[in-house]
Amino acid sequence: MISRPKKGLVYSEMLRRTLQKIIISLVLLINVTAHAQDDIHSFVISDGFTSQALSSFNRYLEDAEGKLTLEELLDPQAKLAWQTHQSDTENNNFGYTSSVYWFHTKLINQSQTNDYVLEIAYPVIDHLDFYWVIDGEVLSHHTMGDKYPFDQRLIEHRNFLVPIEVSFGERANLYIRVKTTSSMQVPLILRSEPSVLYSTETQVMGLSMYYGMIIVMVLYNLFVFVSVREINYFYYVCYVMCMLLFLASLNGVTFQYLWPNSIWWNDQSIVVMLSGVVVFASLFTRHFLDLPSCRPKLNVLFWLLMGLGVSAAVASLILPYHLMIKTTISISLIAIALTFLSGILRFRDGYTPAKYYVYAWSFMLMGGVVLALNKAAILPRNLFTENAVQIGSAIEVILLSLALADRLNAEKTERYEAQMQALEIQKRATETLERRVHERTAELEKANLKLQELSTTDGLTGVRNRRFFDECLEYEFFRSVREQQPMTVMLIDVDHFKAFNDLYGHLVGDDCLIEVAQTVQAQLKREVDIVARYGGEEFSILLSNTSPESARALAEQMRLAIRAIRIEDTNKQKDKPDITASFGLITIKPLESDSPQFILAAADRALYRSKDRGRDMVTVATPNDVN
Ligand code: GH3
Ligand code: MG
Ligand code: MG
Repeated sequence: MISRPKKGLVYSEMLRRTLQKIIISLVLLINVTAHAQDDIHSFVISDGFTSQALSSFNRYLEDAEGKLTLEELLDPQAKLAWQTHQSDTENNNFGYTSSVYWFHTKLINQSQTNDYVLEIAYPVIDHLDFYWVIDGEVLSHHTMGDKYPFDQRLIEHRNFLVPIEVSFGERANLYIRVKTTSSMQVPLILRSEPSVLYSTETQVMGLSMYYGMIIVMVLYNLFVFVSVREINYFYYVCYVMCMLLFLASLNGVTFQYLWPNSIWWNDQSIVVMLSGVVVFASLFTRHFLDLPSCRPKLNVLFWLLMGLGVSAAVASLILPYHLMIKTTISISLIAIALTFLSGILRFRDGYTPAKYYVYAWSFMLMGGVVLALNKAAILPRNLFTENAVQIGSAIEVILLSLALADRLNAEKTERYEAQMQALEIQKRATETLERRVHERTAELEKANLKLQELSTTDGLTGVRNRRFFDECLEYEFFRSVREQQPMTVMLIDVDHFKAFNDLYGHLVGDDCLIEVAQTVQAQLKREVDIVARYGGEEFSILLSNTSPESARALAEQMRLAIRAIRIEDTNKQKDKPDITASFGLITIKPLESDSPQFILAAADRALYRSKDRGRDMVTVATPNDVN
């Protein structure tokens, strides 16, 4: 049976414990105050503590030779040049150095727990030695750094984490020895466990967002490359991959997840990836901005830069890291500046896709400059400077992808416009050709008509010639047979024309023939009627659908008209010449058994009868005369 303690005893026990606590606290307070007065580099952990950067609470010592031991440091007689930071904003950032740095902090635990962790949020430090010293005695020693396999760490985390080994009421000295070929940055932060959880989660969240975004851009542009086969997408993907691996190495993520046991490669990877960034960014830039054809001199500089990048990557496998990282960072800064400058120059050339390009690189430029200045200990280490490259490169990667799309679009538009222009030129050429062909055909037709007219016209009188008349006679004959319509053939012969010629001369004779032709032509009112010069001073006439009476009347009319012709005698010596002509005509509804030649012959015979009967008269043949 368990007996209940007496009430009085319980109270006295509680009182005793409370008093004990008060006394311990008072002793500690006096102690701390006393120490705090002569010792500013001590930090008191009290209840409710979450996190504190320790750079303003630690002192540091540069050991240029790197030969100092902890025993020498602990020797009270030793004259050592310990230093403290002058202001709160300064932190343990000393840039690239070959010296060893020692850091010393006193921690006084005045809280009820000891669930605290010391974090060094710079994962690329080579060697870290943590010594816990209480009352001059070394309690523990831990070694860490990225020169040791990942699983050697006390807490598996991409940053270096060390649990605090100071129990309630204790004062402990923490000595940290740092030797590194990377930049000497030792951001010491003391955190409670929840604070470690919170800060880790926040950082991982930020990094994951960045990595996720970059991986999406890589995959997306890789797919675009596979489908459009534009080499620039490939350069872009390689560039972004190198950038991703470079930053992930810098953040200790690749060491934690990709190659936790490859200590040698872990260092080299940073230089190799950064060189990759330079090489692929140069390839991308040359191609994107059309430098080989538009800016050959800049193109040469980029070849030089790529040569340097490849050399740096190869050299990093042999030469020490601290040398190569500085060289490669310098090359990358030149690369960023050159790339930026090329973008501006090409934009000024009037090349519009360069616009996005310049925007993109200006963000990367800012990020790169901030990182470089931070690593060289010119800018302080804080959330912004630590993530400047991530932020800059995230914006850059998005803008570059936009730039690529814009360029593709611009090329498409250019191609489309060129095609349209070519089509327009082709269309115009075809039109011109068609017009010319049309014009030429019309000209030819005209010439043909003229030729045809010439070949069917009599040269002297301008009326039709015998060939034309014969063709028409044949045509009219068959038409009249078919339609059973009358056709008239009339022959006219100028009387005594030989004598006329002899008397007035050949030229006046010609004029006379022209005059006769025009006179005869003038008597014909219908277009279908044809006058032709049948030969010498003979004319033939073809009338369709004309009655025998009308034909005869027309012949009489013509005979009188010819009689009325008056030729001007140029010599004025002789009498005015009288011109007469004899007519022979036939009007007939021909039968198929008839022939045009027989009809013509009948007309000719009628004409001879007119001559025989004294000339200057019209003789009409009857259809019976045709045989
Ligand atoms: P007839 O009354 O019997 O018809 O007598 P004619 O003199 O007119 O007949 P003939 O057939 O003997 O003579 C025709 C003349 O016409 C001969 C020739 O000098 C003349 N002649 C033929 N062609 C031309 C020509 O183109 N120009 C000129 N000036 N005279 C021509
Ligand atoms: Mg004659
Ligand atoms: Mg005659």
